[in-house]
Amino acid sequence: MTAGLYAGRAMLKTVVLERGAPGGELLNTEMIEDYPGFERVEGWDLAQKFAEHANKFGANIQNANVETVRRLPDGTFETRTDNGDLYHSPTVIVTAGGTPIKLNVPGEAEYAGKGVSYCAVCDGAFFKGHVLAVVGGGDAACEEADYLTRYGTKVYLIHRRDEFRASKIVQKRVFENPKIEVIWNTVVDEIHADEQGLVDRLALRNVVTGVESTLAATGIFVFVGFKPNTGIITDHVEHDATGYLNTDWNMQTSIPGLFAAGDVRVQLTRQVTTAVGDATTAAVAAEKYLTALRKDKTR
Ligand SMILES: Cc1cc2nc3c(=O)[nH]c(=O)nc-3n(C[C@H](O)[C@H](O)[C@H](O)COP(=O)(O)OP(=O)(O)OC[C@H]3O[C@@H](n4cnc5c(N)ncnc54)[C@H](O)[C@@H]3O)c2cc1C
Repeated sequence: MTAGLYAGRAMLKTVVLERGAPGGELLNTEMIEDYPGFERVEGWDLAQKFAEHANKFGANIQNANVETVRRLPDGTFETRTDNGDLYHSPTVIVTAGGTPIKLNVPGEAEYAGKGVSYCAVCDGAFFKGHVLAVVGGGDAACEEADYLTRYGTKVYLIHRRDEFRASKIVQKRVFENPKIEVIWNTVVDEIHADEQGLVDRLALRNVVTGVESTLAATGIFVFVGFKPNTGIITDHVEHDATGYLNTDWNMQTSIPGLFAAGDVRVQLTRQVTTAVGDATTAAVAAEKYLTALRKDKTR
């Protein structure tokens, strides 16, 4: 929506193709406390403001599920939706975000935002003084477990294997942190909540011994992977080992005229502020790209 806002404001004919309600992950976030100018704002409220603002500057937000984005031989793009609509444009900004990989256990979807989270930076501060559980064994799980000890009185790091995949330096931080206790060879089978619907305990199972146990924890942070939504791009495009799109400083991908912004892109952190910043750069760069194209044609 930020890309749409800036492109619309630059008087470019702009269509935003969104398969759901406008707002992306904001709609899965109960409260945002780190978007400048808004000390505390509900995710859906901020999303609505973004959409109205983009509309006001002329972005045409369409409900459409994009199936493919393809660069044609003449350098323009063809975007196809699942109902067969085709959009032709000289440039495309991909802001399709990504999806945190879920545990797929009972209670996970039901208590999302009520103790189940996929973002420590976003939600950690809501868990001051709580006993927390982190699930995963890679860099993200270990780093975020360490980060969460600034809020939690205790952080259990639950991993299904007997060693981490995380880099040694990150592991060292975990092992040296007295607030973290690692629970090896263990998976979460179910997430339970109290009468108010807030998470209060986890059903665990040791995958080696089969022994089941219960862990009292009021927050569970899941870091078992994040999948960027890049499958719509049919041409080869440069990405990192985990599928995030590489871009240059102008947010342009390895395909000329194809820009990317937000969670779909390789970057240090994934927040609303970074997505908005990326999208601003992408829209301004796309406008400059179009101007250069026009100049080339008139030469
Ligand atoms: C639980 C949770 C809590 C969070 N809390 C915070 C927080 O407190 N503060 C903060 O700054 N950040 C928070 N974040 C991170 C923040 O939400 C994201 O960084 C931000 O939303 C990224 O924006 P984006 O536009 O890149 O991607 P998204 O928000 O994922 O938006 C992508 C959009 O693209 C659409 N889309 C995808 N594929 C297609 C397709 N094929 N066709 C059409 N549409 C498509 C999706 O429907 C979606 O609306 C949180 C994330 C999560 C998961």
